[in-house]
Amino acid sequence: MSIAVVTGAAGFIGSSLSEALLDRGYRVRGVDNLTTGRRTNLRSLKNRDEFEFHEVDIRDKSAMNDLVEGVEYVFHQAAVPSVPRSVDDPITTTDANCTGTATVLDAARRADVDTVVAASSSSVYGSSTGLPKVESMTPDPESPYALSKYYTEKLAIQFSDLYDINTVALRYFNVFGPGQDPNGEYAAVIPKFVQLMLDGDRPTIYGDGEQSRDFTFVDNVIQANIQAAEGSATGVAVNVGCGGQVTINELVGHINDILGTDIEPIHDSPRPGDVRHSHADLKSAREEIEYEPKVDFQEGLERTVSYFKNA
Ligand code: NAD
Repeated sequence: MSIAVVTGAAGFIGSSLSEALLDRGYRVRGVDNLTTGRRTNLRSLKNRDEFEFHEVDIRDKSAMNDLVEGVEYVFHQAAVPSVPRSVDDPITTTDANCTGTATVLDAARRADVDTVVAASSSSVYGSSTGLPKVESMTPDPESPYALSKYYTEKLAIQFSDLYDINTVALRYFNVFGPGQDPNGEYAAVIPKFVQLMLDGDRPTIYGDGEQSRDFTFVDNVIQANIQAAEGSATGVAVNVGCGGQVTINELVGHINDILGTDIEPIHDSPRPGDVRHSHADLKSAREEIEYEPKVDFQEGLERTVSYFKNA
């Protein structure tokens, strides 16, 4: 039975990934310091025999060294995950995301872990012209968060050159799905809008709403993580998106259609650090990790709305 460490296991993606790994027969050690993660995300995991939870900060060197002992794969999801939060508080983001990643990678290589899969982000591309975004483009991180994710993937790749360890970085494009936190100033757009519109409230769009995103349902991201770990790719960063482009205005329209409502958004000024367009080229992901998104945007949105309706 393979043993995996999932950092950020109390988070949106880390908790779903942990469930999927358990379903696949893995033993999972979940690590999280519960800064943005939630205990509710751990509820069903805690009933599973092969899951252990460790309330640990990934910057804690000695705890991380112990936790990766005997582990085959590390799925590094822990991070302070928001662009606007990083603009408000660059030091916290840099510390958790850069020092945290270095600590996780160093523990992994000392313990002879086979593969580390690290979460990067489409934000590394910035507003560089040219769509879709291809991995060969020069990154242009425009926020402390984006820069910390670029550091994450560069360090992961460097480790595969310097040490005897496989590493794959996955550039996630706007992930959404059940369990994502809809609350708070830094909530992601889909859970936030779905929750507001379910309550009959008007969502606020920053800017004209014509900015676009390649929204990616969480199951696709989980599948990419598992294939990256179990496959033979190493020393690469690949896009994990859905291969589409939806504007924020269109997103509001889609949620209205699913809910049978006609709610008009409010428009406010654009936020610093937000990129204009984002759209993933998936050729490299197909070649390197045999990735193919299985759940398209529309189905993912319907499943997400249904989750929030019943939450
Ligand atoms: P999330 O906030 O739900 O999960 C991140 C988890 O990391 C949280 O549970 C948090 O408590 C934990 N964490 C933060 N700092 C920590 C530390 N120092 N020690 C231990 N745990 C710590 O966010 P998410 O959406 O699940 O994001 C997971 C990963 O995916 C992150 O690395 C994020 O940068 C990346 N990512 C997410 C998206 C997206 O759209 N959700 C897009 C691109 C990249």
